[in-house]
Amino acid sequence: MPKLLLVHTGGTLMMRGGDPAPLAPDVYTQDLLSELPVLKKIADIETRIFSNLDSSDMQPHHWVSLGELVHESLPAYDGVVIVHGTDTMAYTASALAFLLPGLDRPVVMTGAQKPLGDVRTDARSNLVDACHLAVVGPPEVGIVFDSRLLRGCRATKMDAWGMSAFGSPACPPLAELGLGVQYGPHVLPKRARQAFDGRLEARVLATRTFPGLDPKLISGALDSGVRGMVIEAFGAGNIPRIENSLVSVIEKARAMDVPVVIVSQCPRGSVDLTRYEGGVAASGAGAISAGDMTTEAALAKLMIALGRAESDGRVRTAREAFARSWAGEMG
Ligand code: ASP
Repeated sequence: MPKLLLVHTGGTLMMRGGDPAPLAPDVYTQDLLSELPVLKKIADIETRIFSNLDSSDMQPHHWVSLGELVHESLPAYDGVVIVHGTDTMAYTASALAFLLPGLDRPVVMTGAQKPLGDVRTDARSNLVDACHLAVVGPPEVGIVFDSRLLRGCRATKMDAWGMSAFGSPACPPLAELGLGVQYGPHVLPKRARQAFDGRLEARVLATRTFPGLDPKLISGALDSGVRGMVIEAFGAGNIPRIENSLVSVIEKARAMDVPVVIVSQCPRGSVDLTRYEGGVAASGAGAISAGDMTTEAALAKLMIALGRAESDGRVRTAREAFARSWAGEMG
């Protein structure tokens, strides 16, 4: 019998309430296996309660301790399943992918739009699929939802209502579950285990450009100690440069050794800072392209890269980090 570790962090899957009380974490339903005994047919499963949080309350320090727990536990199991709220699952999945670069077995995250106790819940199928893929799936940090396994550092929450909560617009699913399991050709091979490095700089700001964004607001953030920024720019990575130009504030960031990373507001397509004058201006001022990365992945990668940077080499470190893929997060 394969052996799995099932780590519970919280989220709707195990919540109670709703209509009219808000859904809230429920301490009485933490024992997933007794709620869903069919899981025991898939593997010998040990459960661990890491936390019982609505994922809106997950913080970067949680990513690090969760990553450490998975890193330490992994050699004793065939795979790990993490139950997590959907709201910030893509952030945690991205961080875990970067904190666990040497995976040789699956780490599968899942959650649900409706609690396990509801008649029309999606929790049952998601959990069964997650446990199955934690045994037979690829050695990646993935998100299982609605019969698909997505690469965690490519995924984003796209639906707050429908059962197919996640998409990964720039990367096809790693696997699709139908009568069997069909894998994509791009799944990563096993990689050699590496020492755990949990250093992370959380003083990072993400914001989107929008017509009317006053550059003084970004300048104020720089003055108040921001160490790195992710800017969701327009289209191919364009920023305003005539009225409310962001050019000088990006130059100011560079002068303060604060990297500015550009992602696109468009879910599909890639940043190309050579295509329009707005992109050329951003790049000339020192901005770094994140290609086709999601904001979630760019933010987590920047925090982790900055955690490892010398105090006078933040821009250099970020530039190196975004020049290559760490876990299949960019195309
Ligand atoms: N607010 C919940 C959470 O992220 C939503 C969910 O789990 O689907 O924890």
